[in-house]
Amino acid sequence: MTNTNKTLKNYVNGEWIESNAEKTESVYNPATGEVIAKVPISTREDLDQAVEIAASAFTGWSETAVPKRARILFKYQQLLVDHWDELAEIITIENGKNFKEAQGEVLRGIECVEFAAGAPTLMMGSQLSSIATGLESGEYRYPIGVVGGITPFNFPMMVPCWMFPMAIATGNTFVLKPSERTPLLANRLAELLEEAGLPKGVFNIVHGAHDVVNGLLENKKVKAISFVGSQPVAEYVYKKGSENLKRVQALSGAKNHSIVLNDADLENATTQIVNAAFGSAGERCMACSVVAVEEGIADKFIELLVEKSNEIKIGNGLDEGVFLGPVIRDQHKEKTLQYIEKGESEGARLVRDGRNDKGIQDKGYFVGPTIFDNVTSEMKIWQDEVFAPVLSITRVKNLEDGVELTNQSKFANGACIFTKHGGSVRKFRETIDAGMLGVNIGVPAPMAFFPFSGWKDSFYGDLHANGKDGVNFYTRKKVVTARW
Ligand code: NAD
Repeated sequence: MTNTNKTLKNYVNGEWIESNAEKTESVYNPATGEVIAKVPISTREDLDQAVEIAASAFTGWSETAVPKRARILFKYQQLLVDHWDELAEIITIENGKNFKEAQGEVLRGIECVEFAAGAPTLMMGSQLSSIATGLESGEYRYPIGVVGGITPFNFPMMVPCWMFPMAIATGNTFVLKPSERTPLLANRLAELLEEAGLPKGVFNIVHGAHDVVNGLLENKKVKAISFVGSQPVAEYVYKKGSENLKRVQALSGAKNHSIVLNDADLENATTQIVNAAFGSAGERCMACSVVAVEEGIADKFIELLVEKSNEIKIGNGLDEGVFLGPVIRDQHKEKTLQYIEKGESEGARLVRDGRNDKGIQDKGYFVGPTIFDNVTSEMKIWQDEVFAPVLSITRVKNLEDGVELTNQSKFANGACIFTKHGGSVRKFRETIDAGMLGVNIGVPAPMAFFPFSGWKDSFYGDLHANGKDGVNFYTRKKVVTARW
């Protein structure tokens, strides 16, 4: 895996094939800066070939009995469990998050497979025996065809698993375009799918970048697109995919807020928020990046937060005890440092500066936990998704103030409240703009059987990933009305 000469292959029709690409990109271990592989920037021709294969595999696969399809997923689930640590190690090496977090990510992926293995129940239709005298109606579910999946760098296992297990369990065939920055894990997922007995052509991988994405969006044989990534690209994918008359779900960027009230358990709130802001180096779409704290406890809250952030061990995620790994690339580190400078020049108070922390090495792309106080909604660090271990704090008068401020964000993925008061929780739930809420927890990411339900500019489309939304997204219905 650490052979730097290795150019990854595409996986098409159950074979590992070389791309026609003239260009490759280096894949780095962000903790060391070493090149660990090369990824081909595949061509439109590569993509079209894979779509042809997926389209021809569709007939046989969609006609395969649903329990038989599910049985392959049961086998796959066991293989993922058997290879848990190996998968987690690949994630840490290519993404940088610590090994424990990587193990957690593998679990999140496994849960998606477990949910999808319930396809025989999830795909059931419904009947009404009498809609008029002697007349009956019934609804049946069918797959839609070839599905294209486009995924981001930050969850190389979990995000693809939001897509392909359910898509194939419901009878579709799939072409995955993994992130070119973390492409290794996808290939291992394919090898294990093959071992689980998935027929050739049902799951395919085409590595690359824009050309492959545009190919998926334009190829008429691709019937649906599942996308997860940054806001501008999500908007582009949603518009272009819809223009080409495809079903599209585009999960987008985020800027998640937590509101901490005077009556919160501060010990719990600060532990949860440190984890949510700095875990996975802040590169989570559910990372906490802004806290609105009630004035009465703001000083104590910040003091505890800084204390706990000072205890964080920075380094290579494979090393014992390391909590904070690197950000994904050198350019992303540079951009983060610019945001920190911008925060200072905009007048926020830097209460913890992570730029020169112990554990930051010359090699690798590290930024320590960074905390700003007195941030306002006019500042860039409040508005933009920094996607790094940088946390902004705003002091608010009360819950209403906190909600009003939070709702000014164009993003609305997750939001959390820390309080002991049920009435405040209810008010928060009813008035906050966000699709995934947490009460006294830091990262309210739903499990596979609930939808991952961002709002506003954090999601474009109708049916979200996972849960019943996922089943509906990957299926279409026939309604039969009959008189015998
Ligand atoms: P990204 O948008 O750069 O890349 C995502 C995918 O789109 C990649 O496969 C990439 O190759 C492709 N892509 C990038 N630019 C493109 C372009 N101009 N044209 C066509 N395709 C393009 O995202 P990223 O940096 O890999 O991932 C981080 C982002 O993903 C963050 O914004 C994060 O919030 C978001 N994300 C959202 C969720 C969610 O559930 N809402 C989950 C995970 C990540």
